[in-house]
Amino acid sequence: MADNLQTLAQQDPEVYKIIKNEENRQQLMLEMIASENHTSPAVMEAQGSCLTNKYAEGLPRKRYYGGCDHVDEAEELAIDRCKALFGCEHVNVQPHSGSQANMAVYFSCLQPGDTILAMDLSHGGHLTHGSKVNFSGKLYNIVSYGVKEDTKMIDYDQVAELAKQHNPKLIIAGASAYPRKIDFEKFAQIAKDNDAKLLADIAHIAGLVCTQLHPDPIPVCDFVTTTTHKTLRGPRSGITMCKEEYAKSINSCVFPRMQGGPLCHVIAAKAIAFAEALKPDFKSYSEQVIKNSKSLADALLSKGFDLCSGGTDNHLNLVDLRPYDANVTGADAENWLHDAGIVVNKNLIPFDTRKATETSGIRIGTPALTTRGLTEEHMPLIANWFDTALSSKGDSTAIENIRKETEELCKSFPVPH
Ligand SMILES: *Cc1c(COP(=O)(O)O)cnc(C)c1O
Repeated sequence: MADNLQTLAQQDPEVYKIIKNEENRQQLMLEMIASENHTSPAVMEAQGSCLTNKYAEGLPRKRYYGGCDHVDEAEELAIDRCKALFGCEHVNVQPHSGSQANMAVYFSCLQPGDTILAMDLSHGGHLTHGSKVNFSGKLYNIVSYGVKEDTKMIDYDQVAELAKQHNPKLIIAGASAYPRKIDFEKFAQIAKDNDAKLLADIAHIAGLVCTQLHPDPIPVCDFVTTTTHKTLRGPRSGITMCKEEYAKSINSCVFPRMQGGPLCHVIAAKAIAFAEALKPDFKSYSEQVIKNSKSLADALLSKGFDLCSGGTDNHLNLVDLRPYDANVTGADAENWLHDAGIVVNKNLIPFDTRKATETSGIRIGTPALTTRGLTEEHMPLIANWFDTALSSKGDSTAIENIRKETEELCKSFPVPH
């Protein structure tokens, strides 16, 4: 493979080696962390470009620094393409990450101590949705909803009841570990009935939303935030979209309230990713992500694994390991599968009795596998490896054999570079 890091190799062999080792790891392991993906070479080139040198506090054509003509064009492109992709009224493309994208919304419509109604972390929510260890849990009064114990689907009756009882200023719809469609219209009705603002955090499902494979939150929500690096397959970053009436407030919350200079190189990379996502190819890719996820669900079920909610509508599955083997924890599964060449993460399942460092579940996603070209034909193979690795309880011979097979598959489907 062509190596474009020759200057680095000469100047700093230590860091060069680390990057090459990571590149090798990504090429030779099956990436099944649901929040990860392999972004395009064009996106990575922009992120490695001279745009990183530029300060550009402010908005395009209204900067606090000179010399911004070209980065202005890049940011305007990113904004225009994002609007075309999601059909939003306004977007700020400067948040550095999904967490910053959410922070901008909270700063825009809440005062410290105000109430947020959001999904519980242990039921699939995100740290920024009110976890005690996160700024959101420290600054605001958090009320949490969850999923129903029997169906593992969002309990919309509970959302409505809690909204009525606690009068939240903001309701958040969105999750990091929820395998089903989210009914944004139901959330919108509840928000309207209780005079609350509604934020849809589509960090995980953005690529499915912009390809119409998941119901669209844009028409019914005040704010929509997302990361750009998960199913959307762009650079590691975030964006905050909103209705026009909140545009000024969101802009001033991103800068100067919460961030300094934007990352111009990442904004250019976001522009590239939005253009990629606007192509028909990206819709076929996203359809394949879901096909693979459903096919993997069927294959896992046939091997005796239990899935929260019984299956999936999107890019991820949440495996409850207890019915398969009550003694195997999520941490065990993560370690054994890793040694077998498959990267997943342990994950709390709803109503989990184990701690977060142990867990009774794993979360598995298909976006990265699909990017390297795997299809539904390969999913039974992967389910088989899960079964062999876990039933052997990490036996080193069994794991070593799987490792050879996963590596072969990886070599036949290289990561685009
Ligand atoms: C990943 C994620 C985020 C935050 O993303 P970072 O870029 O890691 O800050 C926010 N919300 C949800 C629901 C997520 O899944």
